Formats: sequence, structure tokens, C-alpha cells
Amino acid sequence: MNNVYMDNNATTCMTKEVVDAMMPYFIDTFGNASSKFYGIGRNAEQALYKMRESVAKSLNAAKVNEIYFTGSGCEADNWAIKGAALANRSKGNHIITSKIEHHAVLNTCEYLEKHGFEVTYLDVDEYGIVDPAAVEAAICDNTVLISIMTANNEIGTIEPIAEIAKIAKAHKVIFHTDAVQAIGHMKIDLQELGVDMLSLSAHKFHGPKGVGMLYIRNGVRIDNLIHGGGQERGKRAATENLAGIAGLAKALELAVENLDENVAAMIKKRDKLIKGIRDNIPYVRLNGPEDERRLCNNANFSFKYVEGESILMMLDMNGICASSGSACASGSLDPSHVLLAIGLPHEIAHGSLRLSIGEDTTDEEIDYVIKTLPPIISRLRDMSPLYEEVLKGEKNNVQ
Ligand SMILES: *Cc1c(COP(=O)(O)O)cnc(C)c1O
Repeated sequence: MNNVYMDNNATTCMTKEVVDAMMPYFIDTFGNASSKFYGIGRNAEQALYKMRESVAKSLNAAKVNEIYFTGSGCEADNWAIKGAALANRSKGNHIITSKIEHHAVLNTCEYLEKHGFEVTYLDVDEYGIVDPAAVEAAICDNTVLISIMTANNEIGTIEPIAEIAKIAKAHKVIFHTDAVQAIGHMKIDLQELGVDMLSLSAHKFHGPKGVGMLYIRNGVRIDNLIHGGGQERGKRAATENLAGIAGLAKALELAVENLDENVAAMIKKRDKLIKGIRDNIPYVRLNGPEDERRLCNNANFSFKYVEGESILMMLDMNGICASSGSACASGSLDPSHVLLAIGLPHEIAHGSLRLSIGEDTTDEEIDYVIKTLPPIISRLRDMSPLYEEVLKGEKNNVQ
């Protein structure tokens, strides 16, 4: 088989419906949404309003004007954190986050530390769960912001966001969540969740790359990240990426419309994949939770005595696209910060493989991976001096 794509946590393919929704904004309605003195511009402005309305409805935001479009998920995270930290600096300089956040959050917090902020990086348990009680215990008089992701991109852990939101509210601290991996994989109802800010990125749910969104509840104080013109109600300068936003809105509509059946189908395939791999490969560990706290499309394994990068290379030769740790983490020699945070020793964290399926993953593809992976792992282990020792030890144990 060729191009068996099992890396949907890294990005997803666009669907034809989404591409079709974008097309009018390249040639026909190409106007600048800020040009109000002629029809082409006004049409763009009206279309933009409709898209914002559609996104607000898909996420059940209280107000349409709480939706702000950005250039990516990373930008939404940067804006939420830098913007809220700086706007509320007179109140305090303390931020709470977790050790397993995406680098868009972690590196932003580290940057703010260089500029006088204090950051608490909360530990997680062996499944990657942030304890709401630990969040509450970390809140001080000078805490201005809490940022905890809705779902983890590497090991699929779903965090207790509604519970943390209640705690943040009780202490009057702004609460931001990176929900980039959650969209299309679980219900996101902004009024039920109770968060103050939420980031998403279109390309993680079959929309285009280079467009994201930040939800900012009315009343939350936040500075601009991008200064310039008066777009996005003066909060984010730059001519709106109308085609990209059209794609985001359409992809979100589709994700929400078919959520329940998509999730049920993906859980079935995910569990088949997990079982097939466990039944056929020894010395394997599933990273992340094994219950309803796991994203429907994520499977993350550690295989003892092999390197993640070598697994990826051999999978690629067999037409399977996957990743080790996260797309950003691979390419560097450090093991994933998420796997280290859940307590894996370096050598086991190095032998990790993330398989993330999509709505379009077929049973045949799952079967193909289950058939292809075991001989790859055993071939790599045959080359490992460490594994040789293990086999010898086993023999000795038996005798
Ligand atoms: C992909 C991802 C991002 C970054 O989104 P981009 O649009 O690629 O910048 C942020 N957070 C999480 C959890 C992600 O998975």
C-alpha cells in the first residue's frame, strides 16, 4: 500500500467541500474587507461576517464578536499568552501552565520569563493528566493567567478543562486553552467549557494551513500581538485571509456536524490498531490514557530497544506516514518533553511512535499497519545489542 497517512495530529488533508468553499475568495470576491466604498469590498466584509458568525455558532460562543481570526494556531497561542500577560501586568506577573503543552505555549512562556514573568510548569501524572487541585494550589495573588491545553498532540490526553475553568473563574484568573487537537475529535461548547480564551488551527481539522482562531470572551483584557490597521476590531492588524477563513469556517462546520459518528468510527479503528499492535509486538507500551480521556484518533507507543527515527524510516519505505513524538520534536535529538513528563526514561522515550488516524482512515489501512509494523520492530531489535542481552537474560531466566 502507498501513502497510508497516519499522521493526522501533524496535519490533515483538505476535503473537496472545504476547497470549494474557499474558491470564490480568490478571484470573484477578492476585495479587501476593509474597503467599504465599493461593492467588491463590501461583499468581502459581509462574507467575513458570515464566516465569523458560522464559527461562533459551531463553537457556541455567546457573541459573534468574540471570534478573532489569526494566521495560525501558534499565533493564537502566542497572542493569548503574551497579550493577556502584558495587558494584566499591573495585577501580577505569574503564569501557570503544564509541562506537556505544545511548544507554541511553552516557548512563549519561556520568552516571558526572560521579560520578568514567573511561570509555574505543572507536573502531569503517568497518563499526562493535569490535576485541577494542583492548578488551584499554584494560584497566588499575582497570578494573571492559566494556560492548559484541551488535548495533547503527542499522547492524546484530554485534560479536565471545564473543571480547571471553574477554579480559574473562582480565583478571577484568566484561563486560556489550546484546543487545536480537540476540534473534530470531541465536543467543544464554549459556554459549557467556561474558558476565557481558546485557540484552534484549521489545518488540524481538514481546513487550510496558515489560518487559526482565537476566541476571546468579551471583557478579557488582552494586548495586541500584531499592531497596524484596525482589522479584527482593532485587536489584530493585517488584511484578513478571506479564502483561508472561509476554509476554516467550512471545515469547522463539517467537523461539528458529523462529530458523533466520526468520533465513534475513529475510536473503533484506533482501538483495533492499538490491540493489533499490542497482540503482535512484545515490549510495547501505550503512552497516554486508555479510557475516555484519550483522543479518538491518537495512538502513541514506545517500543523498547528501538529508535523512533528508524521505525519511521522503515514505515516510510512501506508507504506508511507516521511520526515519532511530535513533528516539531522529531528533527531534534532530544526525546519528547511530553514523554519525559509522563515519566518515561530517555531510552524508552526515544523508541516512540505516534500513529494518528483520520475520518478517512480505512480498515484495510489499519490491517496493513498491523501487518507491517511487527516485522519492522523485530528486524530493528535484531540489530540492537541491548535486545540481544535481553534475549539471553530471558533464556537464563527460563533455565
Ligand atoms: C499543531 C498545533 C499547534 C500549532 O498550530 P499551527 O497552525 O500549526 O501553528 C498548536 N498547538 C497544538 C496542540 C497543535 O497540535
